[in-house]
Amino acid sequence: MTEHTREAMEYDVVIVGAGPAGLSAAIRLKQLDAELNVVVLEKGSEVGAHILSGAVLDPCGLDALIPDWKAKGAPLNVPVKDDNFYMLGEAGQIRIPNWPMPPLMNNHGNYIVSMGNVCRWMAEQAEELGVEIFPGMACSEIVYGDNGEIKGVVAGEFGKNSDGTPGPGYEPGMELHGKYVFLSEGVRGSLAKEVIAKYDLSKGKEPQKFGLGMKEIWEIDPEKHREGSVTHTMGWPLGSNAGGGSFIYHLDNNQVYVGFVVHLNYENPHLYPYMEFQRFKHHPMVAELLKGGKRVAYGARAISEGGYQSMPKMVAPGVALLGCSVGMVNVPRIKGNHNAMLSGKAAAEAAYAAIQDGRASDELTAYETEVRTGAIGTDLKKVRNVKPLWSKRGLLASLTVGGFDMWTNTLGFSLLGTLGHGKSDAEATGEAKNFKPIDYPKPDGKLSFDRLTNVSFAATNHEESQPAHLKLKDPSIPVSVNLPKYGGPSARYCPAGVYEFVKDEKGDDKFVINFQNCVHCKTCDIKDPSQNINWTVPQGGDGPNYPNM
Ligand SMILES: Cc1cc2nc3c(=O)[nH]c(=O)nc-3n(C[C@H](O)[C@H](O)[C@H](O)COP(=O)(O)OP(=O)(O)OC[C@H]3O[C@@H](n4cnc5c(N)ncnc54)[C@H](O)[C@@H]3O)c2cc1C
Repeated sequence: MTEHTREAMEYDVVIVGAGPAGLSAAIRLKQLDAELNVVVLEKGSEVGAHILSGAVLDPCGLDALIPDWKAKGAPLNVPVKDDNFYMLGEAGQIRIPNWPMPPLMNNHGNYIVSMGNVCRWMAEQAEELGVEIFPGMACSEIVYGDNGEIKGVVAGEFGKNSDGTPGPGYEPGMELHGKYVFLSEGVRGSLAKEVIAKYDLSKGKEPQKFGLGMKEIWEIDPEKHREGSVTHTMGWPLGSNAGGGSFIYHLDNNQVYVGFVVHLNYENPHLYPYMEFQRFKHHPMVAELLKGGKRVAYGARAISEGGYQSMPKMVAPGVALLGCSVGMVNVPRIKGNHNAMLSGKAAAEAAYAAIQDGRASDELTAYETEVRTGAIGTDLKKVRNVKPLWSKRGLLASLTVGGFDMWTNTLGFSLLGTLGHGKSDAEATGEAKNFKPIDYPKPDGKLSFDRLTNVSFAATNHEESQPAHLKLKDPSIPVSVNLPKYGGPSARYCPAGVYEFVKDEKGDDKFVINFQNCVHCKTCDIKDPSQNINWTVPQGGDGPNYPNM
């Protein structure tokens, strides 16, 4: 950078990402010492704009962080009243009783929330304590110090031309330096991915596993609305094609969260996760609920599923990885927000103690110890075999053997030890010639919608003049390898229609990246069988604008 020099600002702790993990860390740091300089940088146009969870929130994280959250007006207004599990067949369903489930599966005491709104409220709490929060600031680069330690990040670079050169209104952004940098970017964080690779933090761990979560908000007939009701389903339409299932959560104001998760270790590359979700809504039980209602928002986000055995080492010199940048979701509970909050608190406490001792830019090992041996590790360890059983032995084994293992783990032991996951989700993808194409019904425009129409309900936006933030390591791979070998799966696994194979003027296959549609779910970075797509951060403020996801 000769013409465009970057200014640097010094902080005690620089936090990337205003999700539950990052905001909890910021709040805890200022609770411990009001004099600490703490900054939070968020790529969304506002805090909450990129937050997508179910969400049923276990308040244990918030209880530990802000015990008087109720008095402070936290938006946890809908306690869970009933909890239903169904196994679906195409035309009907069987209710799975709650009594055989281990106590950890019980949602009593939890709340149906908009995590976007919870994060907006947490940001207010943080700002009241003196945290600086900058939304619309994407962190695009790591700044390394002279000894290879992480010194800070670059944030707020704007106005590049499509070829990457500075455009007319180019802003180089700033370097934000900290004694410690916290990466709380959520699942498959782009900076976290770089740091994990640079310091080989996944060495000796199982591969991280993921699901793709898609979600719509519906306003339904008040007669059918049951505030506080929680329903989970498994089985149809996925059957043996893939692991996954649905969630239906009735929040307030006659709104319902309808969501669908597809485990990304599916083999059949013809599978179209978005269309599985659309098809699911035509199940008689679901269709009856939604009939006469309207879908008011849509979004998608990957969810980490590797759990206890997949968590990488979470500290390196000058940096700590928080929340789902590490992967802290309890898969059978489909919950990670509580652990994200607890991890933020633990990282803050470790950084505070280190700074008190005059340390900086070293490894916060106390943070990692707390995560692995404290409440988060305990939560994740009990359920560690459910996902591998589901992947390798199917849904029934995961329900029965996995259920039994969760029970014995609750009592303090496991007969299975710790099962491995085996392949990564990208490696699990099979060749197109070995699988049957799947015929999906056309969306009816009432219960089910075509992908691009639904993407307009994510209110996503990207400045078109910038370079595509979805970078191909080798631009020839999509057409030369992925199309012939895997049937061009990106055209299906992306829930926002970013990727297309079209014919050029000569009739040859051409790969098109409609990066403007991207909803920042990161599925392409995870599932591309050739691992050729690198999701990098676009300029700040771009991406979805979720209302109350
Ligand atoms: C469909 C679905 C349903 C779920 N249901 C539940 C549920 O019911 N209950 C539950 O507890 N959990 C649920 N989860 C899991 C939960 O969402 C995660 O565990 C949680 O979001 C992790 O929090 P986090 O703070 O680590 O990351 P996130 O919540 O993802 O927050 C990360 C933030 O960092 C920002 N960011 C990322 N990269 C950058 C960058 N480079 N620069 C600046 N900003 C950046 C993002 O925009 C985002 O705001 C669900 C997840 C999904 C996908």
